[in-house]
Amino acid sequence: MKRENEIKVNWCPVCNQGWVEIKMDIGEKKMILVCDECDSTWDTPEKMSLNDTNDYRPIEKTRNPTPKEIRDLGWEKYIIKDINDFMRTFPIDS
Ligand SMILES: [Zn+2]
Repeated sequence: MKRENEIKVNWCPVCNQGWVEIKMDIGEKKMILVCDECDSTWDTPEKMSLNDTNDYRPIEKTRNPTPKEIRDLGWEKYIIKDINDFMRTFPIDS
């Protein structure tokens, strides 16, 4: 069973309430980044700021990518490996 936090790449800069995760868009056959809270999307992990979100929202047609799909795109280096470690360097106001 794959744990969901294996594909988190960032804390959402838009809503500050959710994790941005890698998803596979089934219709477009491409990987995107989606906030699990506000559904903002991004094209690449390199361009993830407040102003670079897409209007495009394929939320109904996404699935989790396979580890191979993530590796093929070279995105595995963006995946947060230790959530606690990440949170220490990225404090969230509550
Ligand atoms: Zn969000």
